[in-house]
Amino acid sequence: MKILRSAKWLQGLMLKRRGQKSIGFVPTMGYLHDGHMELVRCARKTCDVVVVSIFVNPLQFGPKEDFKKYPRNERRDLALLRKAGVDFVFLPKTNGLYDRNFQTRVDVCEVSRGLCGSSRPGHFSGVATVVLKLLNIVQPHLAYFGEKDFQQLVVIKTMVRDLNLPVKIVGVPIVRDLDGLALSSRNVYLSDMERRQALGLSSGLKKIRERFHRQKKLSALSAKKIFLTSLAESSTVCLDYFACVDRNSLTPLRAVKKNKTLIAAAVHVGKTRLIDNIQL
Ligand code: AMP
Repeated sequence: MKILRSAKWLQGLMLKRRGQKSIGFVPTMGYLHDGHMELVRCARKTCDVVVVSIFVNPLQFGPKEDFKKYPRNERRDLALLRKAGVDFVFLPKTNGLYDRNFQTRVDVCEVSRGLCGSSRPGHFSGVATVVLKLLNIVQPHLAYFGEKDFQQLVVIKTMVRDLNLPVKIVGVPIVRDLDGLALSSRNVYLSDMERRQALGLSSGLKKIRERFHRQKKLSALSAKKIFLTSLAESSTVCLDYFACVDRNSLTPLRAVKKNKTLIAAAVHVGKTRLIDNIQL
């Protein structure tokens, strides 16, 4: 496994390989867990060359968010990636990707607006900008993104389509802990009590799924009620948003439409913000 810090060097290597080998790319912010490793396993199954990047991207954090304290553990991440058979790890420094003169932003307007975009202004522009840079550096044929960050996946797919980028974006289902909580690097912030209370998020979504399968129809309002009732059992959990939307356009739906619906939610558990979703 080769570890590279220079964007120019990696881009040179990949431009040479792109004509002969299929390249799969997994962008991450590190502090890897089994959700990240599932993306790596998918890439490893399909592609000749697997590239993983680890970069905590300052552009996608708001001024009051957790950029500084975001968990990092380079040594452990590299050991996991080596074991998974990754070929290249890209570990740029912040000033290696953004020099003092950096002034370009990518804005994927409509799909960035609602859901997490409302609570985190500028977040998806930061994401789209860094992902476009990384795609240009790595030159992959396939790039893997988790459905855990469903809106991010839609933003990236839209950018790739709008800008005619020569890459296929592959969405990978959410990996959960045994108790149902979606794996996230931020779960490490939770105390034992918060970790138990955070389960209201995944169990609320699960109850919506069960109700929909039983009744075969469900209004967005009823879905929200089920979710809020599940959250009410956890005193430290506060709702950020709950949304019932079309899973392609992310526009609001009045009722669940079979095979078209995304139910997404974000909550604050103490100081930690967690997101989760289900597709119906
Ligand atoms: P992050 O390091 O949080 O930026 O995540 C890097 C990639 O891993 C993104 O495409 C995420 O959607 C994906 N990811 C994070 N957590 C999970 C999970 N629990 N299941 C599947 N994919 C995930």
